[in-house]
Amino acid sequence: MTRAAALIPRRRCLAVRIGSVTIGGDAPIVVQSMTNTDTANVAATVAQITDLVRVGSELVRITVNNEEAAAAVPQIRERLAAQGIAVPLIGDFHFNGHRLLTKYPACAEALDKYRINPGNVGRGRKKDEQFATIVELACRHDKPARIGVNWGSLDQELAVRLMDENARLPTPKAATEVMYEAMILSALESATRAEAIGLGHDRILLSVKMSGVQDLIAVYRKLAVRCDYPLHLGLTEAGMGSKGIVASTAALAVLLQEGIGDTIRISLTPEPGGSRTQEVVVAQEILQAMGLRSFTPAVVACPGCGRTSSDYFQQLAQRIQHYLREQMPIWRNRYPGVEALTVAVMGCVVNGPGESKQADIGISLPGTGEVPVAPVYVDGEKTVTLKGEHIATEFQQIVDAYVVRRYGAR
Ligand code: SF4
Repeated sequence: MTRAAALIPRRRCLAVRIGSVTIGGDAPIVVQSMTNTDTANVAATVAQITDLVRVGSELVRITVNNEEAAAAVPQIRERLAAQGIAVPLIGDFHFNGHRLLTKYPACAEALDKYRINPGNVGRGRKKDEQFATIVELACRHDKPARIGVNWGSLDQELAVRLMDENARLPTPKAATEVMYEAMILSALESATRAEAIGLGHDRILLSVKMSGVQDLIAVYRKLAVRCDYPLHLGLTEAGMGSKGIVASTAALAVLLQEGIGDTIRISLTPEPGGSRTQEVVVAQEILQAMGLRSFTPAVVACPGCGRTSSDYFQQLAQRIQHYLREQMPIWRNRYPGVEALTVAVMGCVVNGPGESKQADIGISLPGTGEVPVAPVYVDGEKTVTLKGEHIATEFQQIVDAYVVRRYGAR
């Protein structure tokens, strides 16, 4: 456990086992992701899951929206197993989950968890029947379920009922308050119904995703004190690029700091041609920046300024950061603890030596007017001064040697 994780009291909740992963209880906060391939395209979906797992996704959700997708799920599971990938797979169901899980028992078995959206499970009398069918199948196949309420598909019958009740109050509450309550009740009443059907109390997770930062914080704070189910956090429809990253971080950081949240997913819209793995990297970066978990060695780099003699230091910082992340699929198992390594790449003598000494390994590149040499610090001591054209390669070799020496077989 990191120092910050020990300092931030987590909300107490049950632990739910999903395949080989535990969410809630004393378990670390779990990073999950979702594919955007057509699930019926087995090769593409396996390739994307493999990518997501390689960067560190600990659960992967896949859309199961039609018969072709349901039929593909066992094949996806088999192909992953053939590659030695045992990541828990979550089936995302809307509208027809009851039919697909009934007709494709191999799909129901191959998945490790079902996501049920109470707002999309059916209408009127059918809603309860179809919800019950999915829950009964979860019981039969011994699978946990996430009751995943979403602002964009909130159960309208429930929302209207609460709005009507509110309108009859002597002093009606604000409409947003009623909507928050509808989100929370949709999750809690569905969970109660699932338990009545037979799903264990410790087989249920909840989420109440919204797209507004303040809305998300408000609704999760309220939900967190009303149940002991593990909570899945995520700002839904976060958006693209820096907007999506910043909005997700702003919302999740507040909740995580309050000990709320047991698994997170960052719902980024990928840039055209961009990698789906970005959502995993961002989730990891949030948890790591807050000191809640460590995933990848941290690169401390100064922003550069008028003293920076060229963009060489930016290139070196980028190269080292990229290199460290690329090594992690191998290093994670070979060098336990390496994810806590810190590497400093600094642009001049002003803060370079000081910051480099604080890191496990640091390099202080020469700024404008300085002698063109780059002292390297290891465990706070200056060990060597690099110069010439091969500073980057030599520094990378120093990092490699340090990792082997410090984190290798002990
Ligand atoms: S360490 Fe030097 S180059 Fe980097 S921001 Fe500070 S003064 Fe500028």
